[in-house]
Amino acid sequence: MLESHARRLKDAPHGPGPVVYWMHRDQRARDNFGLLYAQRLALTAKRPLAVVFALSPGFLGAGLRQYAFMLKGLAEAEAILASLRIPFFLLCGQPPAEVLAFIRQHRAMALVTDFDPLRLKRAWVAAVTADAPCPVASVDSRNVVPCLVASDRKEYMARTIRPKIQRLLPGFLVEPPALLDHPVPWPGGHPENDFAAALARIQADPTVAEVSWCRPGESAAREMLDTFAAERLPRYAAGRNDPNAQATSNLSPYLHFGQISPLRVALAVAGSAAPLDCREAFLEELIVRRELAENFCWFNPDYDTPDGFPDWARRTLEKHAADRREYLYSLAELDAGRTHDPLWNAAQAEMVVTGTMHGYLRMYWAKKILEWSESPEAAQSAAIALNDRYQLDGRDVNGYTGIAWSMGGVHDRPWAERPIFGLVRYMSFGGAKSKFDLAAYIARQLGPGAVPPALRRRTRAPEA
Ligand SMILES: Cc1cc2nc3c(=O)[nH]c(=O)nc-3n(C[C@H](O)[C@H](O)[C@H](O)COP(=O)(O)OP(=O)(O)OC[C@H]3O[C@@H](n4cnc5c(N)ncnc54)[C@H](O)[C@@H]3O)c2cc1C
Repeated sequence: MLESHARRLKDAPHGPGPVVYWMHRDQRARDNFGLLYAQRLALTAKRPLAVVFALSPGFLGAGLRQYAFMLKGLAEAEAILASLRIPFFLLCGQPPAEVLAFIRQHRAMALVTDFDPLRLKRAWVAAVTADAPCPVASVDSRNVVPCLVASDRKEYMARTIRPKIQRLLPGFLVEPPALLDHPVPWPGGHPENDFAAALARIQADPTVAEVSWCRPGESAAREMLDTFAAERLPRYAAGRNDPNAQATSNLSPYLHFGQISPLRVALAVAGSAAPLDCREAFLEELIVRRELAENFCWFNPDYDTPDGFPDWARRTLEKHAADRREYLYSLAELDAGRTHDPLWNAAQAEMVVTGTMHGYLRMYWAKKILEWSESPEAAQSAAIALNDRYQLDGRDVNGYTGIAWSMGGVHDRPWAERPIFGLVRYMSFGGAKSKFDLAAYIARQLGPGAVPPALRRRTRAPEA
């Protein structure tokens, strides 16, 4: 099973030292195929095993909110690893240089790392692979059916990747092996990592504050999963598109930071007692849609520019480039939630304050930015900047793909032609009004005073 998740990136002579697992995307001790693969190499060769994480400042627009969440999760991973006698080294600096220095210093037998489609991560891994003095392997622990096993090409729609994933799924939807107490000790003591000092040192932007609704770490992720499976999953099929229904999992921050394995989530949901339509609807999002996003970013390095849009969408947006925009907002106005649309302002406020936004509103939010921007380029770059700045789960393949879906027809089909959008699917305030209680949502985010009079319910006078 581990083999199907792994790809050898470099063959070279083994060094005489430990096996090193370079964690960057899958930030957990449990259910981590990269770590399990590294441990298996180490056990076979009777070598010590070490985990390294290189903390780089200014990562893709992340601020204090995201760095603090990540470092608290890493502190928990360190504790679990220590209980299994596996040292965790928190390095600080440019990841390729830090990791190369570490494997050279310890004359590593082999280096194992995480699979990640993002350009920056691919550049890091390529730089380390080029100069590593030992074999290097990358392991996909982010996809239930590994991205490059599911498909060897760019998929156009969910319906093209779905049958490929479904055919392979039974072979991958199985309990992963457990990480073992590592029998070969690390020579010397374990490092004393100071996570709080590391956080202070990178000077993350403090204006994006930490949030309290979502506690970081593997245990909190597991609790969120258990609560979801017991309480919200049974409402998922009917309620997932209603931002007031509290029917979705809220697992995306944990999935984004790799604090929980998608396989663990899929196994819990598949084995739950929730109605079949709820289990199926959730697994479609968690596996098919999420893995379609991985496929998009892996096979399309232009995942964050209009060059990544399909031809029909680029052409239609070009045709409508000069259409009159009734409203035009700057990035600062969008950031401050100062538009004429109370629903959009409420969604923006939810993201700024809580670091999350309901999935239905993410689509609406992004499409309105397209409608109110000078060009698709400006719209896409504003949406990415805001998404990556405020969302706990930002800087993720799902975000780049979701924005490209909303603005550039990625994985979608042409719809009826209209101004600005051309054939790209449109969403309106009226459409949202017919789907859920806008007044309740706006009041929750911005206070009752922000609800426009037209949305206020007429309260009947109490009967005499
Ligand atoms: C404009 C836009 C921006 C987005 N930005 C992000 C982002 O920055 N980070 C992020 O993780 N997701 C993003 N998404 C995808 C999706 O909206 C979120 O993953 C979801 O709302 C997270 O809430 P949840 O965990 O409660 O979802 P649930 O409904 O409980 O779904 C479970 C998991 O399935 C996956 N999933 C759900 N919907 C999608 C989808 N449409 N595409 C791919 N995977 C999906 C996610 O991993 C999610 O955590 C974006 C979507 C759009 C349209």
